[in-house]
Amino acid sequence: MTDTDEKAVHIIGGGLAGSEAAWQLAERGVPVRLYEMRPAHNTPAHRTGYLAELVCSNSLKSLVLPSAAAALKHELALMGSFLLKEALHNRVPAGMALAVEREAFARAVSQKIAAHPGIQLVHEEITSLAPLLAAASTQQIIVATGPLSSDALAEDIARMLGREHLAFFDAAAPIVEAESLDRQKLVSQSRFDKGEGAYLNALLDKEQYLALVASLVRAERVTLRSFEKRELFSACQPIEEVARSGVDALRYGALKPIGLTDPTTGKRPYAAIQLRAENTRQSAWNLVGFQTNLSFAAQEEVIRRIPGFEQVSFVRYGVMHRNTFLNSPEVLGSGFELPSEPRLRFAGQITGTEGYTEAIASGLFAALNAYAALRERSAPVLPDTSTFGALVAYATTGETRHYQPLHVNYGLMPPLSQKPRGKRERYAAYAERAIAATRAMREANSQLDFLPAYELPHFDHLRQER
Ligand SMILES: Cc1cc2nc3c(=O)[nH]c(=O)nc-3n(C[C@H](O)[C@H](O)[C@H](O)COP(=O)(O)OP(=O)(O)OC[C@H]3O[C@@H](n4cnc5c(N)ncnc54)[C@H](O)[C@@H]3O)c2cc1C
Repeated sequence: MTDTDEKAVHIIGGGLAGSEAAWQLAERGVPVRLYEMRPAHNTPAHRTGYLAELVCSNSLKSLVLPSAAAALKHELALMGSFLLKEALHNRVPAGMALAVEREAFARAVSQKIAAHPGIQLVHEEITSLAPLLAAASTQQIIVATGPLSSDALAEDIARMLGREHLAFFDAAAPIVEAESLDRQKLVSQSRFDKGEGAYLNALLDKEQYLALVASLVRAERVTLRSFEKRELFSACQPIEEVARSGVDALRYGALKPIGLTDPTTGKRPYAAIQLRAENTRQSAWNLVGFQTNLSFAAQEEVIRRIPGFEQVSFVRYGVMHRNTFLNSPEVLGSGFELPSEPRLRFAGQITGTEGYTEAIASGLFAALNAYAALRERSAPVLPDTSTFGALVAYATTGETRHYQPLHVNYGLMPPLSQKPRGKRERYAAYAERAIAATRAMREANSQLDFLPAYELPHFDHLRQER
């Protein structure tokens, strides 16, 4: 290591989060060393040696307000995001979504980063953090190695933080918005009345249970990639596979009614679906034991048939896929740093902020925090009324239990002071508040030297067509 290395911020992983973080820091005059292991050492999903490669869909989701995905893009534009701007330059027609020409986007990001005088791009796999941590006393390190972090580094991180704090496979149940449930049809009750009705329950009679089993058995499943099939084997079984194993299997498993009473009959129901609160505000609920590999459309179809779920909105669909992510609420501080080693912070999907645009936002957020730490300035506090601020709060508050990676969504937001009736009006109020809060945060934090803000394309004509 040379003196220059010692002053640099080391960023490991040149994906979406790492590339955004590198650019943000370099543009503020901070020397950056960016390590990317591809193309010499590939992941099971990446195909090229480019930075910021999109591994699956080429869509960064909606550009149209009031969706949370669009509000996040407005927040990123206000904070001067580099990758979002590149995505807008490399757009392909996709209606209301921001889709990009995958290779052109990754190539443009790679060329700009390689040409930046403040960034040294090193194509090398980092297998251990210790040498970097030992090399310099003042530098910052950002680990942004993503859901497919290399085995050696993932092992190193697991050893450092404790194996129980790093997951390698995501087998998640759907999470739904509290406001979209029909509470008249659900019962607030804990098994054997322990825990003061901490759970919501959809109580099923025999006919309803059999209809659910039948719909699970015939629903469309997602085809897993070969590298994921082997991991699924060791994960908990998807609910549709349990349903296939026998008509009563769920009734004696995840949907067992033991300890519950139907208040209308005074008897034990035939089966029950339990919902556990995702956060202390109880604005989002998790369907316990419903981890699933069904397609998103099939999940909507099956779950909306359950009494109380007819109009349900999903905060997150159930998924089963390879995913390396930290138990962030337990191990990360509010700036995605490790409290015991504040020079080390994480960004991107490894923190559990799921999705392409969220990875970009998290790279930007980690860079702002690294910059504040390096220059000894006050760190950014993102308002929890912004979409990304709400996700950061969910990911870093110790109160979060059963942490699951999430996209930005309005289910995580603090309640509105005046709640409009319709869903669309409610979302519009959330979006407006989120954008205003981000603008105010930017204005109040001039010490962070934000890159210039820019405008997103307007879609008023599309809004009217809907
Ligand atoms: C198969 C799959 C499909 C997905 N599809 C979508 C989708 O369609 N839409 C969506 O919104 N999200 C999707 N995601 C989720 C997520 O948004 C993306 O994975 C996103 O790219 C995460 O950004 P990131 O920067 O955290 O990680 P990545 O973009 O994966 O970047 C991490 C980088 O780190 C490098 N790296 C890993 N280990 C090391 C190491 N030890 N040393 C040096 N470099 C290393 C990798 O080569 C990679 O370039 C998908 C995830 C997976 C796994």
